[in-house]
Amino acid sequence: MGDSSPPPRDCDVVVIGAGITGALVADTLARDGLSVVVLDRRAPAGGSTAASTSLVSYEIDVSLKNLAEMIGEEDAVRSYRLSLDAVHDLGTIAASLSEQTGFAPCPSICLASHRKHRRDLEQEVALRQRHDLDAEFWTAEIVEQTYGFPSHGALHTGTAGVLDPVRFTRALLDRAVSRGAVLLPRTPARDVRQDGTALAVVTGRGTLRARWVVYAMGYEMPASLRAGMVALHTTYALVTEPLADLGPWQGKSIVWETARPYGYMRATDDGRVMIGGADTPFKDEAWRDRLMPSRTKRLERKLGQWLPTVQTDTAFVWAGTFGETRDGLPYIGPMPDCPHALYALGYGANGITFGAIAARIVSGLCLGRPNDDVRLFRLDR
Ligand SMILES: Cc1cc2nc3c(=O)[nH]c(=O)nc-3n(C[C@H](O)[C@H](O)[C@H](O)COP(=O)(O)OP(=O)(O)OC[C@H]3O[C@@H](n4cnc5c(N)ncnc54)[C@H](O)[C@@H]3O)c2cc1C
Repeated sequence: MGDSSPPPRDCDVVVIGAGITGALVADTLARDGLSVVVLDRRAPAGGSTAASTSLVSYEIDVSLKNLAEMIGEEDAVRSYRLSLDAVHDLGTIAASLSEQTGFAPCPSICLASHRKHRRDLEQEVALRQRHDLDAEFWTAEIVEQTYGFPSHGALHTGTAGVLDPVRFTRALLDRAVSRGAVLLPRTPARDVRQDGTALAVVTGRGTLRARWVVYAMGYEMPASLRAGMVALHTTYALVTEPLADLGPWQGKSIVWETARPYGYMRATDDGRVMIGGADTPFKDEAWRDRLMPSRTKRLERKLGQWLPTVQTDTAFVWAGTFGETRDGLPYIGPMPDCPHALYALGYGANGITFGAIAARIVSGLCLGRPNDDVRLFRLDR
């Protein structure tokens, strides 16, 4: 993957970042005939996409009820609707790729971690059902009978899935390249400047001129954007050795909970369990790594709580960074002072779904299709 020839000097769109977001954008634009250059300071899919546990979910870190209080019910419902559509988009895209990307639809269950959260989940389900968003309330008995998890009830939805984020991203980039896109790995973008009617992207391999620039740099967003807008957090994850039996759950759903910070769990197709959570505000890498043993213990305890009848051995642990916004929504759309510079950043824990929303909006803008949903995700909200 990649291209050692000199990059073109002019193109329609430069995408900065070859993670899952940049790959989704590049794939759509190359399909629609635009000339695209994707560059990444690392290898493709080497940012948080590689660290992702890849639960594909339409959940937003702020519940619909709380989001409605923050931004109004209509906009909150629209945000959830876009997220739900994005899960379907990801399934459709995965099915259109010739490579195996590990995409598998499955239900999602959000467990009430405390007795007092049961009422919140019931209200959340009622609100979602009123707006035709896929959700139902399960009592603790139904949860126990179906999956064996101890809980105080749960929100259950059939619209979710899992995928392999690295294979998915690489397959998208391969397809974009086969349609004429140019991929430049290990090519940092150092600066973006206005150059007449175009934008000049100064890279480690020369300067590119483009009509549009898409910032798909994950949590490594330009410092000017980050100040006060996105709080960086470290999330920890572990994967077990393969298990002969996953108990009543059998890995049939993705799992998360109402506690904050929340745990999240899925099974892999080779019979392992992947669990993440124990989030902490990001300070620096040394601090993040120092916390690894205690956070791993927390995740192991959570695993024991959720799968009380299953004996697990931890095979591998890791940590990664994600950004959190106040309302749980990402930043997607044009820079206020530079309308041809588009951002697709500020994702929370369900960044894969937000990546698919961003790809739809951002590629539409590059193709000259204005999108009213931009107002939900604008920088100055
Ligand atoms: C441990 C962990 C678990 C997660 N679990 C889930 C989950 O279960 N479900 C879910 O939906 N999401 C999850 N997420 C979040 C999700 O993985 C991310 O939101 C998503 O991968 C972001 O993709 P991206 O393409 O926007 O960013 P990235 O994958 O970070 O890609 C950005 C790219 O930009 C490049 N870049 C940065 N600066 C420059 C520059 N100046 N020049 C050139 N290139 C640059 C980077 O090298 C990187 O490759 C998780 C995250 C972590 C860390």
